[in-house]
Amino acid sequence: MSRTIIIGGGPAGMSAAVEIARAGGDAIIIDSNPRLGGQYWRHGTDAKFSHDGERFFALQDEISRHPEIEIRGGSQVWRASYQDGVASVWLNDGTSLASETLLIATGAYDRSLPFPGWDLPGSMTAGGAQALLKASGALLGRAVFVAGTGPFLLPVAASLVEAGVKVLGVLEANRVNGWINHLGAVDFSKMKDAARYFKILATAKVPIRIGYAIIEARGDGRVEEVVIAKVDRHFAVKPGSIEVHKCDAIATGWGFTPDLTLAHSLGVTTDIDAIDRSVVVHVDAFQETSQHGVFAAGESTGVGGVDLALIEGRVAGIAIAVQRGLISTMDAKNRSVGLAQERSRIRKFAQALLSVYKIREGWRSWLHPETIICRCEEVTFAQVRNVVHDLGASDVRTAKLLSRCGMGMCQGRVCGRIVADVVGAEIGRSATDDELRGIHNRPIAHPISLATLAKQGQ
Ligand SMILES: Cc1cc2nc3c(=O)[nH]c(=O)nc-3n(C[C@H](O)[C@H](O)[C@H](O)COP(=O)(O)OP(=O)(O)OC[C@H]3O[C@@H](n4cnc5c(N)ncnc54)[C@H](O)[C@@H]3O)c2cc1C
Repeated sequence: MSRTIIIGGGPAGMSAAVEIARAGGDAIIIDSNPRLGGQYWRHGTDAKFSHDGERFFALQDEISRHPEIEIRGGSQVWRASYQDGVASVWLNDGTSLASETLLIATGAYDRSLPFPGWDLPGSMTAGGAQALLKASGALLGRAVFVAGTGPFLLPVAASLVEAGVKVLGVLEANRVNGWINHLGAVDFSKMKDAARYFKILATAKVPIRIGYAIIEARGDGRVEEVVIAKVDRHFAVKPGSIEVHKCDAIATGWGFTPDLTLAHSLGVTTDIDAIDRSVVVHVDAFQETSQHGVFAAGESTGVGGVDLALIEGRVAGIAIAVQRGLISTMDAKNRSVGLAQERSRIRKFAQALLSVYKIREGWRSWLHPETIICRCEEVTFAQVRNVVHDLGASDVRTAKLLSRCGMGMCQGRVCGRIVADVVGAEIGRSATDDELRGIHNRPIAHPISLATLAKQGQ
């Protein structure tokens, strides 16, 4: 049996590789980043900004002690397919690999919401700002607002403060009293981290404003000021609450979108999350997908954070070892003690997070007719409305074809969900499950050169 292909060297991919190696197996980890660690441990050679470094170095050390684990860093998988029990992947260096066992550990990317001025230089996603800082120590600006929803805003704001940025405010659009309904699911181990972030922000006198959002960014060629407002529980602006503040950058974060592009190409069954309607890979108790030999772990099975990614990676690694005949099922049971229970505990917490920090439909009321919806193709809100109301588009795909939304460089990674929600609202219904799944349909997962494509045919 050929070595296991692991796409993604983040927490999920790393922990799976370790379990495969412990069982005496071999694997190749492919990641577009030059270094292992994924989004959570995306630190540069200077590890100053990395958090939770001990766990990263323990995993990295163990992987490096196993020469049978090859790391192909700086390599992007641009295409994947599955046929007759064999999964194949194509890399941007023109090579391809095939195996009977493959792990999808492709993680997630920032979910964005559009607002007037979100396309100005100086406006960035919270994850983008964090990644910039971790990877190269670069700052998005000197005086910034961090806004959106979810606990991720706190580490982003705290690390900006630690890096010397003046954080003018952290704006959380949701009400945190939503936690009252989810007290049983709270992961108290996360409280220590939260307390540390609050302390950093309090020391720097950063105001944390609950129920507030950035509804517009303005500036001549780049962000110079923001319009913020108090929003109700549906995210609609409360009359009389508008404020304008000077700043030179903003970081906005609205949670994450599981990266399912390759999963889609591999033909695995997907589910629609009941809370936020994100598309996630369907897996069984062993993290195996509907395609025999294809496993998935980490954010691709639903956003759940680093601890869940690590556990799912371990479960997948052990299950792959069993499927490859490296260990017995009894041995696997011994290696898996407590993992299933821990996985379901963290998954419950993750679902509670999704509920409390859900994106409410009132964000669409922040849009102006000229607000850009698709940044790659520069399609405005008015143009999207036009294809629905004047040209008669009655589904997301037709609206996309007529407006060119999602047909640019990012192939809808940024605007796919936005377009689905905006078009759905204009048509007068929610986007269907199939329309949401369609967002991840990209036969070419990432841009490649013609030379790479030509090599593939040789
Ligand atoms: C931008 C961003 C920043 C984040 N920062 C934090 C943080 O500071 N703190 C925190 O608690 N959580 C953070 N998160 C959440 C974090 O993603 C998870 O908690 C954790 O990293 C999930 O692990 P994972 O292994 O599932 O995925 P990831 O860590 O996302 O790893 C997936 C890996 O797959 C690689 N990959 C994807 N597609 C391909 C492909 N086609 N070819 C090659 N490689 C590919 C990616 O480069 C990435 O390294 C962040 C998420 C994002 C999107």
